[in-house]
Amino acid sequence: MPAPSHVPNDSTATIVIGGGLAGLAAAAFLARAGRPVTLLERAPTLGGRAATADRADGVRWNLGPHALYRTGEAMAVLDALGVSPAGALPPTAGAAAHARGRLHRLPAGPWSLMTTTLLGLRGKLAVGRLLGALPRLDPATLAGRSVADWIDGTLADPRARELLAGLVRLTTYDADPGRQDAGAAVAQLQRAFAGNVLYLDDGWASLVDALADAARSAGAELVAGVAVREVVLADRDGRAAVTGVRTADGRLLGAGDVVLAGTSAMAAALVEADGPAGVVHHWAAGARPSRVACLDLALRSPLPGPSFVLGTDRPLYLSNHSASARLGPDGVAVVHAAKYVGDGAGSRPEEDERELEELLDLAHPGWRAKLVDRRFLPRLAASTAAVSAADGGLAGRPGPVVPGIDGLLVAGDWVGARGQLADASLASGRSAAEAILAGVEAPRVADPPAALVA
Ligand SMILES: Cc1cc2nc3c(=O)[nH]c(=O)nc-3n(C[C@H](O)[C@H](O)[C@H](O)COP(=O)(O)OP(=O)(O)OC[C@H]3O[C@@H](n4cnc5c(N)ncnc54)[C@H](O)[C@@H]3O)c2cc1C
Repeated sequence: MPAPSHVPNDSTATIVIGGGLAGLAAAAFLARAGRPVTLLERAPTLGGRAATADRADGVRWNLGPHALYRTGEAMAVLDALGVSPAGALPPTAGAAAHARGRLHRLPAGPWSLMTTTLLGLRGKLAVGRLLGALPRLDPATLAGRSVADWIDGTLADPRARELLAGLVRLTTYDADPGRQDAGAAVAQLQRAFAGNVLYLDDGWASLVDALADAARSAGAELVAGVAVREVVLADRDGRAAVTGVRTADGRLLGAGDVVLAGTSAMAAALVEADGPAGVVHHWAAGARPSRVACLDLALRSPLPGPSFVLGTDRPLYLSNHSASARLGPDGVAVVHAAKYVGDGAGSRPEEDERELEELLDLAHPGWRAKLVDRRFLPRLAASTAAVSAADGGLAGRPGPVVPGIDGLLVAGDWVGARGQLADASLASGRSAAEAILAGVEAPRVADPPAALVA
């Protein structure tokens, strides 16, 4: 196991656990402020769910489809760190909707809305009105209301409702409209329509590498291949306080602050449930993941069908990411197909894979003869904590400061009131660093949260 070279046992040092986007952002902001910081990543390489696989034939696959929101929190964080992602907008010309076993033109503007066979006249008018009004909707007024309830109250036409539900799935990965928060969904739709997304050249590893460079050049130590087993706490003047971490191979590394940067399950695994950090277990227990079954493909190009397909009556997605981003050699198309499977509890991987193959048969007949490489990943967590109406929407999310423990912070896609997916990971990584730099004190907790003792 690689040994971290400097982990000073002084209270100004921070250990960041997790080398995904959240951890890298936290480490970079701390290092730029002159703080000693060491990041420990369990895997042999940095990146977490933003990693990109290099295939033998020069093809680069993200972990399922990845698109960076151009006007989201992630971009603001990257900009602050001097990282400018290179990539391009997905092609919209010829984009298709999949409904009732057929492909239709996907309404992406006034002309495609008027001419699509996806909707009847009433549906077209209703969708046109909704898209016109979308920029003026106030997401805060919809917080706490479910997406299903909002869609039912907004659109009467069943096919228009399906389309809206499909757009919400596309932008949030959440396939559970009965529990999903409408305020967060509308904010995400606004972001998508206002600024669209980028498919990144060379995959999301380009982001990971640039963030790692930003952190290292500011003085952070990033160590891959070191797993942390637990966060070590001590009593300091009657308060619980972080003193460091213990690695999986038994080393004790001292620090005044620890950032748990990853999933809520990871955070909970590193602190005791019945101690002062029990609240972290409470957060993890309440997290509702949004999972996707992903079929990642490399196919000889050109492909006969549309570059992009969104399922409206089925939770399906298909996109040729190399139609706009550089992800492989000339003559090879990098295509991601996905099925949104909610929390994954009822998903059937074999059926999901077959359904994705059938979508490919429809969109790109003859694709099997063009196959260069494929990979099926049945239950990836695109979000480890979808935003739920019952929690009051984004405002109900925890962190970054863990109450009741001095020096313990969390970051990840489940943390903080800003953004979803990578936007939340990067924004919360930055917030955790800023809370440390500002010396924000952990709020006192007199008793465990009510939900813990109920
Ligand atoms: C299929 C899929 C599609 C997605 N599409 C999009 C998209 O289009 N747009 C978007 O914005 N976002 C998307 N995302 C989400 C985005 O990838 C994540 O939000 C982001 O990468 C999560 O970063 P993170 O740092 O919060 O967590 P993670 O990437 O999960 O990083 C946590 C890290 O902690 C490490 N770790 C765990 N336990 C330990 C331990 N004990 N010791 C040390 N290290 C440990 C893990 O190995 C991991 O590297 C997608 C995700 C998936 C899976």
